[in-house]
Amino acid sequence: MDSAEAYVIVGGSAAGMAAAQAIRERDPAAGITVLSEEADAPYFRPLIPYLVSGRKQAREMTLAGSGPYTGRDIQVWTEARVTAVDCKGQRVTLADGRQLGYGKVLFATGSRPFLPPEIKGTDTEGVFALRTLADARRMARRVEATRRAVMLGGGLLNLKAAFALLERGIRVTLVVFSPEVLSQLMDPEDALLIRRALDRAGLEIRTGAAARTILGDGSGVRAVGLDDGTEIECQMVCIGKGVRPNMEFLAGSGVRIGGGIVADRFTACNQPNTFAAGDVAVTYEPVSGRPIMTALWTNAVEMGRCAGLNMAGVPTAYTGTFGILNATQVADMPFVSMGTVHTGGLDFQIYRHASANAYRKLVFDPEGRRLMGAVLVGDIANAGIYRYLIREKRDISAVKRQIVNHQLHYGHLLPN
Ligand SMILES: Cc1cc2nc3c(=O)[nH]c(=O)nc-3n(C[C@H](O)[C@H](O)[C@H](O)COP(=O)(O)OP(=O)(O)OC[C@H]3O[C@@H](n4cnc5c(N)ncnc54)[C@H](O)[C@@H]3O)c2cc1C
Repeated sequence: MDSAEAYVIVGGSAAGMAAAQAIRERDPAAGITVLSEEADAPYFRPLIPYLVSGRKQAREMTLAGSGPYTGRDIQVWTEARVTAVDCKGQRVTLADGRQLGYGKVLFATGSRPFLPPEIKGTDTEGVFALRTLADARRMARRVEATRRAVMLGGGLLNLKAAFALLERGIRVTLVVFSPEVLSQLMDPEDALLIRRALDRAGLEIRTGAAARTILGDGSGVRAVGLDDGTEIECQMVCIGKGVRPNMEFLAGSGVRIGGGIVADRFTACNQPNTFAAGDVAVTYEPVSGRPIMTALWTNAVEMGRCAGLNMAGVPTAYTGTFGILNATQVADMPFVSMGTVHTGGLDFQIYRHASANAYRKLVFDPEGRRLMGAVLVGDIANAGIYRYLIREKRDISAVKRQIVNHQLHYGHLLPN
């Protein structure tokens, strides 16, 4: 073994850095080493589309040394990919052969884009899946040679990338297999206002279509072939078809895998002194209690912090992942989607209210006693209080009328 550290954190992003910070707060003297595969120092991943659009520089996205991450005495090794973990010997092995012992280890390795194998030609020059700062730099360079881009997938990340390209003056076509964009976050009828805003912003959208082939020539991508036989000429393709957890390095380690790395309520894995947090971890959804993995920065930070406290000997139960995107917006249209929002054919009480500038869908249980989920578009003013009611599973019978009429405030929830 080359060296040993009290705390080793694999992955230096939302979950990993939040954990490091929490450990440092509780344990001022212990050695903490963060191992990160990327060449860049830790950064705020949700901002990387702004590097593509040119709105921000990489240095404005740095995590360590800014915000809540003071970076105080936290060693961050970049280009340090972990290839194996020996849970018995309590050590990790890096790609360059170095070994590092640990007292406690956190797996916070996040996820990577999924490239569907049925799409041929994803290795063509000019094809991207925006995940890292390095991807964003490469994309920004390719923009110089691009008149038209095709985005495959209608999720939030691909929409963000699409807007970055629109801002650079590129013609952008979004190809989405579902009947509507953002299908993971809302039902098609909930997305009407967002769709109108996307249309106004100049994004071309083809729903119900799938890409089969990416065609290239000497200068890289030249077109995308769709399943209906048509081709869209383009010089750039961006794939946003979901993510997969980074956990191959745990092969043979004995750490339990079940879709992701399985963590208990206290973020611990099944092997001694091992923990998991962030996008890579499987945890539970507080409303349904079902196992869930999310891909949200806020959840990763919350879970990472919780893991850090547990590692430092402060038992802290993780209160559960909750699908909320705080004040996210696409095409200047803010929206929030939380809890149970897909209601097709199911027995819920549903209230919808739509105006020219705002839309709200509220989902109650069949008896109308609990708020189960909400979609707010345009006006997200009450998102915080709805989040509280959903997450705490409050009996809302007494205030249901105020919720439905959008008049609820915290005063209504005080005991009489
Ligand atoms: C373009 C984009 C926009 C986004 N926008 C939003 C948003 O608006 N709101 C929101 O909530 N979320 C957003 N997200 C999602 C959010 O960034 C993720 O949920 C969050 O980064 C997850 O944090 P994490 O720490 O779990 O993992 P990650 O951020 O994925 O970091 C894991 C790190 O571990 C490293 N690693 C992996 N394997 C190894 C290994 N074997 N050894 C060493 N290091 C390893 C990876 O290289 C990476 O640096 C966005 C993501 C992207 C890509």
